[in-house]
This record gives sequence, C-alpha cells and structure tokens, in this order.
Amino acid sequence: INDSLGHPVGDRVLQEVSRRLQGAVRDEDLVARLSGDEFVVVLTVLDQDVEVAALKAGEISEKIRALISLPFIHEDMELRVTCSVGVVVYPDKNNVVHELLRYADTAMYQVKEKGRDAIEFFNEEMADKVSRQLVMEGDLHRALEDEQFSLFYQPKVDVNSGKIVGAEALLRWHHPEKGNVSPLEFIPVLETSGLILQVGQWVVEEACRALENWSERGLWSAGMQLSINISPRQFRRERFAADVIRTLDRYRLPKGVLDMEITEGVVIQQVDEAIDTITTLTERGVSFSLDDFGTGYSSISYLKRLPVATLKIDKSFVRDIIVDRNDRVLVETIVTMGRLLDLELVAEGVEQAEQLEILRSYGCHSYQGFYFSPAVEGDKFIELLLS
Ligand code: C2E
Ligand code: CA
Ligand code: CA
Ligand code: CA
Repeated sequence: INDSLGHPVGDRVLQEVSRRLQGAVRDEDLVARLSGDEFVVVLTVLDQDVEVAALKAGEISEKIRALISLPFIHEDMELRVTCSVGVVVYPDKNNVVHELLRYADTAMYQVKEKGRDAIEFFNEEMADKVSRQLVMEGDLHRALEDEQFSLFYQPKVDVNSGKIVGAEALLRWHHPEKGNVSPLEFIPVLETSGLILQVGQWVVEEACRALENWSERGLWSAGMQLSINISPRQFRRERFAADVIRTLDRYRLPKGVLDMEITEGVVIQQVDEAIDTITTLTERGVSFSLDDFGTGYSSISYLKRLPVATLKIDKSFVRDIIVDRNDRVLVETIVTMGRLLDLELVAEGVEQAEQLEILRSYGCHSYQGFYFSPAVEGDKFIELLLS
C-alpha cells in the first residue's frame, strides 16, 4: 500500500485493514494475512445450501469492501484503501487448501484486470482458465529440459542510417503438439509458477552464447547491443545481479554489449533495491532500457530516479501515430523529454514508412518493427547482419 507519491505507508495501514476485517466477520471465521497486502478470510459453514452460502458470502464480501474503503487518518493524511475481493464457495470439506486459494486468487485477479475495487466469484470460465494454465504449467516444466525454447532476434535499426545497431532477443516456445505458443500466453504462466527464474537464467545464458558467437565471427561491432527482457520476479531475486555477472564473465563478454529491458512493474515496489541492482550491473557494463514506456502509471517520476539509458516507446502509441493526433503529440513529447534527459529513444512496432518518417522528424534515434524485420531465428539474423 503506497501513498499518492508511491511511498509505502506500511504496517499502520495493514493493521487497520486487519482490524476492519475482523470486525466484518463472525467469531468462528478466520482472518489471516497471506503476504504483503493480501488477506485471506475463511467463512466457515455459511449454509448447507451452496446457493444460499454463496449469497451470504457475497453479502459479507460487500460489507468487507464497504468497511475497508472508509477513509482513515494517518499522519495528517486522509487515506483511502480499496480492495479487490475474489470469492470461492466450497461445498464440502474435501478441498485442497492451496487449490481453494488459487481459485480465490484467480477471481481476485479478474477484479484487478477489470479495474479493482470490486467483488468477483470464481466461476466455470475461470475454472477452465485455471485448468488450461495448469496443463500449460506441466508442459512448461518439460520444455526447458527438452530444449523447446529458443531465442529469436529482432533487429534494432538506426532511424537515419537504416543500419542495424542492435537487437532484442525474444523468447519462443515450440510445443511438441501445439506448435508455437505466443509469449503473451506462456510468459504469465512462467511468472505465476516461478519457472521464469530458470527460464530467465537460460535466456541470459543463451544471449551471452549468441553474443560470443557473433563477436568471434566479427559480426558484432563495437556499440552494438543485444537486449533481453527481464521479468519483475527474476529481477527482484536477490542473486540476480551476481548470477548475470558470473555468466558475463564466463563468456568473457566485454562491457557494453548486453542491455536489459525492464518495465515499471520491476521497480514499482522496492525502488531503492531496484536502483542498487541496476547500479551493480551498470558497473559491469550492462545497460538498461525502460520497456513499454507510456503504458504504466507514474512513468515520469520513476524516470527521474532510475539509472536507465534507453526508453522504448510502446508500440500502442506508434500504431496509430499516422491517424491519431493525440498519439502523435504523446510520442513527440516523450521523444523531446527523453532527449533532454540524454536518453536513447527506441520506437517499437514500426510497420510503415510513414510511421518511420514521423519518428525521424521528432528526433527518435532507432526503431524496431515489421517494417524492417520481425524477430527471426539466429541464422536468419546473421544473414541480416551480413546483408
Ligand atoms: P515486448 O518486450 O514489448 O516485445 C515486443 C513485441 O512486439 C514482441 O512480441 C514482438 O514480436 C512484437 N513486435 C515487434 N515488431 C512489431 C510490429 O511491427 N508490430 C507489432 N504489432 N508487433 C511487433 P512477442 O515476441 O510476442 O513478445 C511478447 C512479450 O513477451 C514481449 O513484449 C515481452 O514482454 C515478453 N517476452 C518475450 N520474450 C521474453 C523473455 O525472454 N523474457 C521475458 N521476461 N519476457 C519476454
Ligand atoms: Ca496487492
Ligand atoms: Ca521488450
Ligand atoms: Ca515493449
């Protein structure tokens, strides 16, 4: 829980929330703090009839939501906490606790996706989603051993010279039966299952191997950078910087060849720790890019504090840059601001010559997009480097 400036208000608020939760339920019910700002409420034996029980659970959830959102005073500030409630009703005692928690969690995330501060019941549709994800999770466990992952590379191109100045490595998963699965589907599953830690380390390793190969063949000239995507969970791990540095050393990679793309999600909770990690890696010659810039909440305030070298302008702004005046204004503002802050500006998702023309006129440095090339496999990328 943060105040409006993003500072943690911490324990005081959590205590108050806990107190209010206790007040909303009966004596025989259980209130527990799960982690961070997540609480679990167990309402025992609401009714023999499942439908009636569901109705009562809904009423109590509404009461909880109303109580929690009453403002309270903390150090001269009036704070208001909102809560997202996920409810699962369980008809018998033979349920596995962690399954129930997962269902409630799924329902809660549904609330968050829809804009927070509401109540949602776990339903059939979510059940399907969970079981699909569990199947995928099982498949992903095997994927690393069976070498079903690979990296594709999308060239990063200088807006003015049209020359390749680097690339972004994008993870690909070839499922033995289903074929290629989109990262938009499997990365979230890697995240929730924790598998992202191993797969993320594999990406670092694979990127270093590629860089070593390209350098030995004289394809990677000074100043060119390969970017990899780092997920929040991976970045926050304590050993993250040390592991990366060990890998860079093992491949004897010089400074300045590896770049890491992070999103605001990486730093939103522990800004100081994030700055430490970035600083440690920067000293070993790794640079950082802020990915999907413009889509988050407090982009500008983070920008001031984070030692990043590059801003990547999200493809959603580039997409309509020709037809939508607002998007044009936004992109021009980001480029102007970025240049004033001495940042490198990379536009994502450039598909047409006209988009590139506009970006060039604003002073954007480089771009990626189907207009030049999609992400391609290693051999194909080498051909692009040679052409
Ligand atoms: P992202 O980091 O924003 O990556 C850019 C996405 O835009 C890629 O999708 C890329 O294929 C796509 N793209 C590139 N040019 C164009 C274009 O001209 N038009 C359009 N419409 N799209 C374009 P992809 O490969 O499906 O990856 C999706 C997301 O998955 C990435 O978004 C990134 O957040 C995540 N991801 C990919 N690889 C990794 C990885 O190794 N680790 C982690 N943690 N996340 C990854
Ligand atoms: Ca939360
Ligand atoms: Ca990226
Ligand atoms: Ca991006």
